[in-house]
Amino acid sequence: MRNHPIVIIGAGQAGLQTAEALRAEGWQGDLILLGDEPYAPYHRPPLSKAYLLGESTVEQLTMRGPEALERKAITLRKSSRVMRIDPAEKTLHFSHGSSLPYHRLVLATGARARQLPGADLHGVFQLRTLEDCTRISEAMATAHNIAVIGGGFIGLEFAAVARKKGKSVTVIEAANRLMARAVSAEVSEIYARLHTEQGVVLRLGSSVAGFTSTGGKVSGVTLSDGSSVSADLIVMGIGILPNQELAEAAGISCASGVIIDSGGRTSDPFIFACGDCTATRLENGDFRRLESVQNAIEQAKSCAASIMNRERPFTAAPWFWSDQYDVKLQMVGTSRGHERTAIRGDTTAYKCSIFYFAGEQLIGIDSLNRPQDHMAGRRLLDQRVAVTPQQAADESFLLNQLFQRDGVSA
Ligand SMILES: Cc1cc2nc3c(=O)[nH]c(=O)nc-3n(C[C@H](O)[C@H](O)[C@H](O)COP(=O)(O)OP(=O)(O)OC[C@H]3O[C@@H](n4cnc5c(N)ncnc54)[C@H](O)[C@@H]3O)c2cc1C
Repeated sequence: MRNHPIVIIGAGQAGLQTAEALRAEGWQGDLILLGDEPYAPYHRPPLSKAYLLGESTVEQLTMRGPEALERKAITLRKSSRVMRIDPAEKTLHFSHGSSLPYHRLVLATGARARQLPGADLHGVFQLRTLEDCTRISEAMATAHNIAVIGGGFIGLEFAAVARKKGKSVTVIEAANRLMARAVSAEVSEIYARLHTEQGVVLRLGSSVAGFTSTGGKVSGVTLSDGSSVSADLIVMGIGILPNQELAEAAGISCASGVIIDSGGRTSDPFIFACGDCTATRLENGDFRRLESVQNAIEQAKSCAASIMNRERPFTAAPWFWSDQYDVKLQMVGTSRGHERTAIRGDTTAYKCSIFYFAGEQLIGIDSLNRPQDHMAGRRLLDQRVAVTPQQAADESFLLNQLFQRDGVSA
């Protein structure tokens, strides 16, 4: 039914981007963006960085105000939780009993933070939403000893903020190095040094056995080796779970995420998906789930193009960033499977880039406080321009020369 709206479930990064991209692609019909949070779409990354530190405002978090949405004729319905999709009737059902038909449906439902059993104690938090961030901020005002469970990006960014606020901080990580899922051992090592220098106590290779409490309020964490860490505030950053239950109940194929192709198509020809809730099938049959702003934006654009019958696969090398203290980590490509590295700059000064090679081929670059290397790296990887480890390690060699020599405009 062409006169029905395109409906997007999830008013986050991917949902808003899909709506805007649909307008850019020429969709002139009704466009409805449904979000279960009481806010207009907002940026999540500052929740563990500048916003939590008090260095930015709620207005700066907001992606688009009402006028911007109105200009693009995007109808935002806040606090609207979709309970069920009826794919045969092409209709959505809400908790309050009403329903909404759709012409095409986009799932941009994101993800939620993983929890540990017992985490419902007073003083134990997760960090996914603006509401979580507000609660943590309030609790942090009176907290002294903070335990962070999980030494991944969110846990470590939070630890950095808590140290800047003068709190005593212990990070408990089950793996034997930091950010192990995403970065190389070299980068883990650099970040272990950085956090230790800043006064964070790192408990690597330590799993949580349970929480202790007094009067319903958390008082600490017990570890599987029998030791304990006392804490009056705990933040868990132990990964996310994709919000795929709506899709599963509607009979749409899911793995760890709603399965999509490179154009955001699901197993239902009228339903598309993008962002943190998705898993992309790779050529070798594996699934890839990316949890990043770039992925949400790029998949959303691909989704909108597919809905409008245009091919626009997301092929760029994946990139990500993380701010901890005064060090900005920017990553592009992957370090997984590398055989050798080349280091450009000074690791002890936290101003360096690590280039990863598999054979002769560059596969990824992690840059610390070297944004120029990161930007050049994105171009090198996207345009498949060759660089040698010697060139990469030589600071007097300008990476941008490579584009000129290959006849690609610099
Ligand atoms: C603290 C934090 C820091 C981060 N830092 C970085 C960073 O530095 N760099 C980076 O690249 N990425 C970062 N990320 C990840 C990035 O924010 C996410 O990858 C991105 O927000 C994903 O967008 P999304 O639209 O898929 O999901 P979301 O932004 O989670 O939006 C999904 C929305 O759908 C809503 N929803 C779910 N189910 C329903 C339903 N049934 N009905 C209605 N609405 C529903 C959810 O409540 C949510 O509002 C960070 C994330 C967090 C939480």
